[in-house]
Amino acid sequence: MLVDSHTHIDTSRFNADREAVIQAAVAGGVTRMIDPGCDLASSRAALALARDHPGVIYAGVGVHPHDATTYSDAVGEQLLEMARAPQVVAIGEFGLDYYRMLSPRDVQRAVFCAHLELARAAALPCIIHVRDAHDDVMELLRAHGQGQRGVFHCFSGDVAQSEQCLAFDGFMLSFAGPLTRQDNALPDVARMVPLERVLVETDSPYLIPKPVKAKRNEPLFVKYVAQKLADIRGLTFEEIAAITTANTIRLFGLGEPCS
Ligand SMILES: [Zn+2]
Repeated sequence: MLVDSHTHIDTSRFNADREAVIQAAVAGGVTRMIDPGCDLASSRAALALARDHPGVIYAGVGVHPHDATTYSDAVGEQLLEMARAPQVVAIGEFGLDYYRMLSPRDVQRAVFCAHLELARAAALPCIIHVRDAHDDVMELLRAHGQGQRGVFHCFSGDVAQSEQCLAFDGFMLSFAGPLTRQDNALPDVARMVPLERVLVETDSPYLIPKPVKAKRNEPLFVKYVAQKLADIRGLTFEEIAAITTANTIRLFGLGEPCS
């Protein structure tokens, strides 16, 4: 049994076959998934999807750094209102993305801090997106995120950066499809991360893992990320599945899967 700790199954790429994709995931052992919103509308969509699939889909509410300019105090109030629903298990995804820089840096930083406040007010863990912005995320978390919990989703840094992330006691690292590729430091990170602090995810529809040949990623394919992590750690698939599932349940307080 696996949890896909990060999928955007609310997005339009799944409009034609969303229910079939969810059923295929559950039938394949991916019994629970977390869908983080990327703006107000997709946060609403994620919550609606979670309400329609109790015990299977859970939602996060937040504004992605790409869309940071759409954030306002009024948006924050609505996210906080949504966060009261039992199906909402996280604030996010939010973060800093200086790779694509679709919102100005100062706006991203201010919106990052606003989300930390939302997470504190809602007493929920954070789903944090970081791309080419590691130092700023560390700085803002040190200044404003003390005592908070969450996950560095789709971790993309090196070993030294992973150690800085794990210095925040309440945080975990999550691996996605890039772990299955050869062109990065992630296998080294995966070798050293404490097993009680690791999650797996797809970030679907993006980041198709090897060896999948498809145009679109989907929650079922989280099993390839888990298998790669198992290979790196010299554990069985079942052991990694049990460990990452327990970690996800613990971090996000997920209920039991519905049969
Ligand atoms: Zn995402």
